[in-house]
Amino acid sequence: MPTDVLVLGAGMVGTCTALQLARRGHSVALVDRQAPGRETSYGNAGIIQREAVEPYAFPREWSALFDAAFKRGPDVNYHLGALPSVAPRLYRYWHESAPGRYAAIARDYSRLIQHCLTEHDALMAESGAGDLVRKAGFRIGFRTQAAMDLAATNAADLQQRYGVRHALLDGDALARAEPGLRARLSGALHWLDPWSVSDPGALVDRYVQRFIDLGGRLRRGDATSLRPDGGGWRVQTTEGPLQARHAVVALGPWAGELTQRLGYRLPLFVKRGYHRHYRSGPGLDLPLLDAERGLVIAPMAAGMRITTGAEFARIGAPPTPVQLGKAEAAARELIDLPEPVESVPWLGNRPGTVDMKPVMGPAPKHAGLWFNFGHSHQGFTLGPVSGRLLAEMIEGSQTLLDPAPFAATRF
Ligand SMILES: Cc1cc2nc3c(=O)[nH]c(=O)nc-3n(C[C@H](O)[C@H](O)[C@H](O)COP(=O)(O)OP(=O)(O)OC[C@H]3O[C@@H](n4cnc5c(N)ncnc54)[C@H](O)[C@@H]3O)c2cc1C
Repeated sequence: MPTDVLVLGAGMVGTCTALQLARRGHSVALVDRQAPGRETSYGNAGIIQREAVEPYAFPREWSALFDAAFKRGPDVNYHLGALPSVAPRLYRYWHESAPGRYAAIARDYSRLIQHCLTEHDALMAESGAGDLVRKAGFRIGFRTQAAMDLAATNAADLQQRYGVRHALLDGDALARAEPGLRARLSGALHWLDPWSVSDPGALVDRYVQRFIDLGGRLRRGDATSLRPDGGGWRVQTTEGPLQARHAVVALGPWAGELTQRLGYRLPLFVKRGYHRHYRSGPGLDLPLLDAERGLVIAPMAAGMRITTGAEFARIGAPPTPVQLGKAEAAARELIDLPEPVESVPWLGNRPGTVDMKPVMGPAPKHAGLWFNFGHSHQGFTLGPVSGRLLAEMIEGSQTLLDPAPFAATRF
């Protein structure tokens, strides 16, 4: 059977694109240079963030900028050598985060993220992945009452405007909900709608297995071998060349490499992040974001996973896990963490765009070439809905939502 679509990149986004196409009866090959779901989609905090109706903005307050510039806060780090190449993009990111522009971006973003649970739910049900997910939300813990009050005001506003539900817990209620917490916090904001996954890489594996069960083909190959071929596209795989009418670039943080070769200059950058698992004492019941220290503690199958904030560096530059050191110290104030599971921390790359929105839709200069990347902080959440949108656009059928705000032509 001839291949209709080549999907390049088997992270959450590429896998879901391939699966959504296969569910619609298309013949699809999913190509990755390694096993699926081993990069960013493996190492995240595993939260399906229904509450994230507003994307992660660049800080605008002077105090936050000062902390970031002098690496004082735990949530931002950067490599000096990367600044000349990344600074112009960070400036645009800061510019797009100005209140007026940001409000318009958040409107687009909220229309996309509102489908994240229903689209994951459908794929989880078909893939038998229910055992990996908890539908109980996650919490943001606060060390100070001032930070809690600010977050409560913001949450009430988001609930009113977007219907994302939350509850507030004072220090006592939080201590009862999380008996493993050894520090007394001011309280917590509990986002009620999100889901949490105990092994993000395993969820990608289940979706890949469902794709294969539907007749999809998984192949090893280098996406940078993609070339126009006849009326379509060709890529080299370890089992020989594959040809199809359509090709989807879903390479997450590596999308810039291929799109640049094809003549596109898209304003992409990466925000690196680290994680490590720890064997714990009583641990936590639900994921906890320690907003004032810039880390997440997520209970996972492999242990308590501590994830860090953003590091601006070149993709492939040697790891500098200073944030993880700070995060680990902050986490130890909260829970008992006897020892790390891995000797070396995991390092991954969030695939960012300057306007915080993913790039989804047709490649402006090439027929049959499609983009699906740049999902930044929420690609694990957005994989199924992004995959569905791409499948509908390739088919030319009615789309779930207006894809125009995500088109590559906006740059
Ligand atoms: C610390 C951290 C915490 C996070 N927490 C969350 C969270 O809680 N919730 C959430 O929604 N998101 C979270 N994210 C973001 C999320 O993980 C990413 O947005 C998402 O995984 C991106 O998926 P992707 O498929 O686009 O990219 P990836 O998962 O990186 O997949 C890209 C794929 O392309 C392949 N590839 C690259 N180059 C080539 C090539 N030349 N040839 C063939 N294949 C190639 C790679 O092998 C890889 O499999 C977090 C990220 C980090 C770093």
